[in-house]
Amino acid sequence: MKETTTVIGGKSYRTVSLNTVIVGSGAAGFNAALRLHSLGVTDCAIVTEGVKMGTSRNTGSDKQTYYKMNLCADYPDSPRSMAEDFFRGKCVDGDTAYVEAALSIPCFLNLCELGVPFPVNRFGEYIGYKTDHDPRARATSAGPLTSKLMTECLEAEAERVGVKIYDKMQIISVLKDGDRVAGVLALNKIAAGEEDRLVLFRATNVIIATGGPAGIYADSVYPIGHAGSSGIAFEAGVLGKNLTEWQYGLASIAPRWNVSGTYMQVLPRFVSVDSEGKEYEFLAEYFDEVGDCLSKIFKKGYEWPFDCRKAIDGSSIIDLLVYREKVLLGRRVYLDFRRNPYGYDELPYDTLTEEAREYLEKAGACFGNPLERLLHMNEPAYDLYLSKGVDLRTEMLEIALCAQHNNGGLSTDLWWQTNVPGLYAAGEVAGTHGVYRPGGSALNAGQVGSMRAAQHIARFGAGERTDEARFAAIAEAAVATHAELCEKMLSGGDTLKIYSDRATKRMSEVGGAIRNSEKLGSALAEIKEIFDNFGSYVRVATPARLYEAYRLRDALISQMTYLSAMKYYVEAGGKSRGSAIYTSKVGNTPAKLGDLFRFELDSGEFDEVVEEVSYTDGLSATVRPVRPLPGDSGFFENVWRRYREDKNVY
Ligand SMILES: Cc1cc2nc3c(=O)[nH]c(=O)nc-3n(C[C@H](O)[C@H](O)[C@H](O)COP(=O)(O)OP(=O)(O)OC[C@H]3O[C@@H](n4cnc5c(N)ncnc54)[C@H](O)[C@@H]3O)c2cc1C
Repeated sequence: MKETTTVIGGKSYRTVSLNTVIVGSGAAGFNAALRLHSLGVTDCAIVTEGVKMGTSRNTGSDKQTYYKMNLCADYPDSPRSMAEDFFRGKCVDGDTAYVEAALSIPCFLNLCELGVPFPVNRFGEYIGYKTDHDPRARATSAGPLTSKLMTECLEAEAERVGVKIYDKMQIISVLKDGDRVAGVLALNKIAAGEEDRLVLFRATNVIIATGGPAGIYADSVYPIGHAGSSGIAFEAGVLGKNLTEWQYGLASIAPRWNVSGTYMQVLPRFVSVDSEGKEYEFLAEYFDEVGDCLSKIFKKGYEWPFDCRKAIDGSSIIDLLVYREKVLLGRRVYLDFRRNPYGYDELPYDTLTEEAREYLEKAGACFGNPLERLLHMNEPAYDLYLSKGVDLRTEMLEIALCAQHNNGGLSTDLWWQTNVPGLYAAGEVAGTHGVYRPGGSALNAGQVGSMRAAQHIARFGAGERTDEARFAAIAEAAVATHAELCEKMLSGGDTLKIYSDRATKRMSEVGGAIRNSEKLGSALAEIKEIFDNFGSYVRVATPARLYEAYRLRDALISQMTYLSAMKYYVEAGGKSRGSAIYTSKVGNTPAKLGDLFRFELDSGEFDEVVEEVSYTDGLSATVRPVRPLPGDSGFFENVWRRYREDKNVY
C-alpha cells in the first residue's frame, strides 16, 4: 500500500495504491477483509463512510436469525437439500445457491470461533429452529442483535490482524480502465477544505459491500443513517438482478423496528389520524366481523413480510390497509397499546380463530388491554421501546409499511464477481436471492459471498494495477466532473431536503409493495429530469453536507434502475408475486377496496428466469434462464488433484 499524490489540473489529489479496496464496514465488508488477510492478500483496506454505520451494526429484530445447514439432532440435511430450498425461492441462480449452502457451515463456525454467542446445548450442538420458508429448522440466533454481535466480533478480529481502515470516506464513483475496474473515487467527509475533499484509490480489485440500497425509500426499517450505494455500481456498468424482489412489512418509524411477533399477538388497536387530528379506527371500519379482524392481526405476528398471496383474505390485508391510510389518504398510522380494538373493555376471545384463541389462552393472556397482555407475555418487547424513548403505556407508536430487505441486487457469478472484471459485490448489495428466501439467509449470504470474492482475488487478483500515468488520465475525468458538481452544489441555497424527501416518498408510493405500470413510468420520467439537472437543482449550504447530496445522487440512479426493472417486468406480462402487488384492471381485489388493489397472482411463468437491468445501456432489461443447480459434486481423486493445483478456484 502506497500513498502518493496525483496531479490533475494543477492540483494534487491524495492517492492510495493497493491491491484491493473493500467498500463498507458491515458484516460482509469486515469478513471480506479478514478472508483476504488469511489468504495472504494483506495489501487491502476497508474504505467506509463510517466504521460504525450500516445495517448489520445498527439493526435487529425480535430474534434476529442466522440461517445455516442443520447441525443438530437427526435432521437430515445436506448442501444439496439446502441449495434446493434456496433454489425453490424462484428466479435464483443454482450455482450461487449451492455455494451459499456448501459454505454455510464454515462461515457459521468462523463466526462462532470469533465469539458470536450462538447457543449450544449441553452436548455442544448448535440447536436450531424453523424460520419462514425453512423446512429443516436451520435457523439460529444470538438474540435480537445477532448482526451487531457478528460485526463487532469481525471488527475485533480485523483490528487484531491489522486490517487498514480508511474511515469517513464515501465512495462516489468507481473508476474503470476500459472494461476493468481501476479504483474508486472517495469524498472525504471530514475534509478540511477543497484540496483534500476528493481522494483517489488505485486498486486492482474492488469489493462493494455497501449493503441494501435503503436510501431509495422513505418508508424503511433499515437503520437511520444507512443508505447503501448501489448507484455507483450501476453507473459503472454493473447489471442489476432481480431488482423487483424486496421484502416489505409493518414497522415503527421512530425508532425503526419490525412490529412482528408479540407486538401483533397482543392485538393492538390500529389508528390513523388525518391532518385535522381526527382519529379513525380503520381496521374496525373495514372488517365486517370482529373475530376476523382480530385473528388477522394476531396472524400478522408470525407472517411478518407482506405477501401478495395473503392479501385477499389473509393477514397481508392489514399491510394493504395501513398503506391505504398512509400513502393514499395521507394520514399517519399508529398502533395503540393502551386500549382494546373496537372499544372493548374485554375482548371477545371466543370470536378468534382456534389457533389464536388457544395461543392466547395457553399464554394466560386473555385479559386486559394490549399493553397488559404485552407486559404479561413479553415484557422485554415493551422495554425495548422504552429504552428508545417510546413509552407504550402513554403514547401510540407510529408505523408504516416499510422496506426491510432487498432480495435482488448486483448480479454476480459464482465467485461474487460482477460483469465488470475486478469488481466484486458481497453482502446485501449482491442479489443472490429470488422471490422468496428463508429468514436469516441474508446474513449467511453476506459471509459466504465475501469469502468467495476473497478466494477469487487471492487466486486471480494479484495482477498489475493500472500504471500511475494511465490512472491519472482515468481519474482526471472523474475528478473534473465531481469537483465541478461539488462547486455547483455549494453555489448558494439549500434544497437538498426538498428533493430528497420528494424522491424517497415518491419511491415508497410507486415502487414499494404496491406498483402500477403507469405510475412507474411517470415516476421514472420525473426522476430522470431531476438527475439530468442535479447540479442545478440540488444545493447544500455547507461542504459538510455534500455527502448527503451524494447519497441522493446515488439513490436517484438506483431508483431509475429499480423502477425500470419493475416496469419491464410488468410490461413483459409479469404479475404479482412475493412482497409486491402490480395493480391491474383484471384480477381479484380485497373486498371493499375496489380497483385500488385489483391484481392477478403470478402463475409461475417467470420462476425460472432472471431479469437483469443495465443502467449504462439506457436502462435496458434482459431476461435469461436461471443458472441451474450444479449436477454432482465430483469424484474425490479428481477434485483433490485439481485442489492441489489451484484449490479448485477457477
Ligand atoms: C430490521 C431488519 C431486520 C433484519 N433481520 C434479519 C435477520 O433476522 N436475518 C438476516 O439474515 N438478515 C436480516 N436483515 C438483513 C441483514 O441485516 C442485512 O442484509 C445485512 O446486515 C447487510 O450486511 P452488509 O454487510 O451487506 O451491509 P451493511 O451492514 O449495511 O454495511 C454496509 C456498509 O457499507 C458502508 N457504505 C455504504 N455506502 C458506502 C459508500 N458509498 N462509501 C463507503 N462506505 C459505504 C456503510 O456505511 C456500511 O459500513 C435484517 C434487516 C433489517 C433492516
